[in-house]
Amino acid sequence: MSKLELPHSLWAATAAPAPQTSPLDRDIAVDVAIVGAGYAGLSTALHLAAAGRTVLVVEAGDIGWGASGRSGGQVIPGIKYDPDDLIKMFGQDAGKRAAANFGSTAAKVFELIDRYGIECDDTRSGWAQPAHSKVAEAAARNRCRQWLALGADVTELDRNQMAELLGTDVYHGGWIDRRGGSVQPLSYSRGLARAALQEGVAIATHTRATSLKRDGANWRIKTDRGPAVIADKVIVCTNAYSKGLWPKLEQTVIAANSFQVATKPLSPNLDRSILKDKVVASDTRRLLAYFRRDREGRFIMGGRGTFADPSSAAEFRHVERMLARSYPVLADQPIEFRWGGRVAITQDFLPHLHTPEDGLLFVLGCQGRGVALQSKMGEWVRDYIVSDDPQKLPLPVTDISPIPFHALRRLYVATTLSYYKIADIVR
Ligand SMILES: Cc1cc2nc3c(=O)[nH]c(=O)nc-3n(C[C@H](O)[C@H](O)[C@H](O)COP(=O)(O)OP(=O)(O)OC[C@H]3O[C@@H](n4cnc5c(N)ncnc54)[C@H](O)[C@@H]3O)c2cc1C
Repeated sequence: MSKLELPHSLWAATAAPAPQTSPLDRDIAVDVAIVGAGYAGLSTALHLAAAGRTVLVVEAGDIGWGASGRSGGQVIPGIKYDPDDLIKMFGQDAGKRAAANFGSTAAKVFELIDRYGIECDDTRSGWAQPAHSKVAEAAARNRCRQWLALGADVTELDRNQMAELLGTDVYHGGWIDRRGGSVQPLSYSRGLARAALQEGVAIATHTRATSLKRDGANWRIKTDRGPAVIADKVIVCTNAYSKGLWPKLEQTVIAANSFQVATKPLSPNLDRSILKDKVVASDTRRLLAYFRRDREGRFIMGGRGTFADPSSAAEFRHVERMLARSYPVLADQPIEFRWGGRVAITQDFLPHLHTPEDGLLFVLGCQGRGVALQSKMGEWVRDYIVSDDPQKLPLPVTDISPIPFHALRRLYVATTLSYYKIADIVR
């Protein structure tokens, strides 16, 4: 397998092998069927099983095959909107509740890791947001103050403090959110799967759900393996990989590529200065750069991808340029691995929850920030299923509403990228 095709070649060294899963060799009836074994599907499965439900997960690929196993592993609380934005959007009470909910997502990751003994090289030193310009620094510090007002463990940083933290002086100041951290993304996915199996969940990998149909009071999920799953409730957690299972779902998101590169492990002198406290970071650009170190001492940089899936190392050059721009000292550091995956961007930049029919829930749209969000989503969805109360979900349920002219998404992406490039220069 080429190193370009999947990140799993990189992770094989650090991740425990995928847990054994059960083949779907006959029709199976469960309380809840879940489609997709990423963070959302696995966390939902384990929370529901721990609450006494019988649960089966079907996954078209391996555990964590989608964005989850390939992610940057940055555990970041919150969503793309600041607390004040949420208050403007939903009003004082609901907005504050939403901010508190989304602010609690990173803690959920570490709680699950501790509760189930998940080995995933987790770090808990925080997530920093360094500013690429003076204007962006003011906005970042304002964001920090909003979280501080809600009692979060966050601190504003000036330029020198940021340089000391990151080991590069190209950024202005910004802030650090100490609720954040990192996981080795595939190890965390596999650990969640192990925890789910431990709670009694059945997982059928290499099994694609091909249709969802009402069957009396139940749902019948046909699979490409032949046997079907019959379930009282179905939760679809296919995010940017939603294709063909439900009319128009795929058209509610732009499935944009995000690319990453990993250097060879850094030499001891670089090791001592670059992200030495194991903080992870994403900068304030709209076309943001996100970076961290891994257990072996590699430096990992991520950024936007091409529209199509990558087929050559040349398509990662822009990420390597971003790496050199953020860390000039690493400009000549050899790149060992390159890979990408798809993130689901919604038109309003909010996560989406849809219940088009009784017993059916769709969860998608993380805007590239789903490690913590989708882990916590499992708890929210459990509370919703157990109580049948949509108020337990973190946001109002909405209709499935395709993005207008979705077929022109290649054009959308190109136009948005050009616009963001300019916006990053001027602000
Ligand atoms: C390169 C990259 C870097 C990222 N970095 C970060 C980061 O540092 N921090 C952060 O917070 N977020 C990050 N993200 C975003 C984060 O990874 C995602 O938001 C999160 O993993 C989404 O989880 P999920 O379970 O909703 O979806 P996914 O993990 O994408 O899982 C969906 C699964 O559904 C399966 N599936 C689809 N259709 C079917 C079907 N019909 N039948 C069966 N199975 C099906 C797919 O095979 C897939 O495994 C990154 C994403 C990418 C791609």
